[in-house]
Amino acid sequence: MRALCWAVLLAAVSVAQAAPPQDAPRWWKGNLHTHTLWSDGDDYPEVIAKWYKDCGYQFLALTDHNRLQTGERWMDVMKSKGGPPALAHYRKSWGEDWVTTRTVDGKLEARLKTLEEFRKRLEVPGKFLLLQGQEVTDQYKAFPVHINASNVQALIKPQGGSNVVDVMQRNVNAILAQRRQTGQPILPHLNHPNFGWGVTAEDLMQVKGERFFEVYNGHPSVHNEGDKTHAGTERMWDIILTRRLAELKSEVLYGLATDDAHNYHSVSNKLSNPGRGWVMVRAAALKPAALIAALEAGDFYSSSGVQLRDVQRDGAALAIEIEAEPGVEYTTYFIGTRRGYDAANEPIRQPSGEALRVTHRYSDDIGRVLAKVVGPKATYRLSGDEIYVRAKVVSSKTMTNPLLPGEKQAAWIQPLVPARP
Ligand SMILES: [Zn+2]
Ligand SMILES: [Zn+2]
Repeated sequence: MRALCWAVLLAAVSVAQAAPPQDAPRWWKGNLHTHTLWSDGDDYPEVIAKWYKDCGYQFLALTDHNRLQTGERWMDVMKSKGGPPALAHYRKSWGEDWVTTRTVDGKLEARLKTLEEFRKRLEVPGKFLLLQGQEVTDQYKAFPVHINASNVQALIKPQGGSNVVDVMQRNVNAILAQRRQTGQPILPHLNHPNFGWGVTAEDLMQVKGERFFEVYNGHPSVHNEGDKTHAGTERMWDIILTRRLAELKSEVLYGLATDDAHNYHSVSNKLSNPGRGWVMVRAAALKPAALIAALEAGDFYSSSGVQLRDVQRDGAALAIEIEAEPGVEYTTYFIGTRRGYDAANEPIRQPSGEALRVTHRYSDDIGRVLAKVVGPKATYRLSGDEIYVRAKVVSSKTMTNPLLPGEKQAAWIQPLVPARP
């Protein structure tokens, strides 16, 4: 692993804060989407987990495609992603005693360690936690449908279905069924809706029990920003929040930032490197149940660099305090939709008139900037007609390893949904 540990600076900032009393809620930094050699990542799982631990994360879900890190698995080193250099680095950093290799028919093979094996070397109660994860990797025709299951207890088979919504719903149902059967909290979240332009806002808003999606994913091929015909993920978020809350009378949707890292050996905006997107979850304990309960209560924010000191969401206001760095300017946008909005929407059509299977176009009433505040503290007081209000903080500082040139560090604060009168 030669990727730089740029997050260490941030970790140093958190260390500088006064330690809260034990069992008081505090912020825990985590990443819920990462790949290893168990599927298509290019490094050994414990090497990757150690990178996150060393870089100031407190929890990590390793989420390989349709695979858990269980059972006996040997890899042909020459054919493996990362190849001999990854093995050499693995040997050097973890030691000859730890690394297991063999030669079969003249070919060098390395055995991948299971989560149960390597978590013993990495986990520290209250300091670092590994969650078992899986990227349930499915599709409808050419449209990818990938759903992560964090704290999954057993492998979930992709469920298939008769259209994109059905594929999402059946996979979410399978994850939630395992949650009921095991009594363990297991969190489904929709990955990268714009990867392969697989999932539209109208698709996702219909899925029941899917309350999380990736508003930011650090992989270079997932189109967070959208393009001329496709809405970006933030626009999708506002459309879904508005229609779910005001029209469908269904659930809120929370926005996650994740790495979706696959590439650990060199750093480039063309590679899915670790360290681009994460969540900060406020919980009293670094345990799966406490973290997932906090996520489900919306008591977290997502970040690509901006660190917050406090977020208060109550019946009257959404208030944010930023852990400001000297010389850096912060702009907070409060974004929401007011009652009485123009609900008209239109499919986007080809010149022939045929509707494209992409997110519809909506009026500017949806996801309006309701207020803009410059400075380390920002408060939005509800005026009474908001369907929801969320916030995005944008820093004047560029991300260390951005996907887009000059992309600024940001934080996404979860929507405040006022009680319906
Ligand atoms: Zn994926
Ligand atoms: Zn992935």
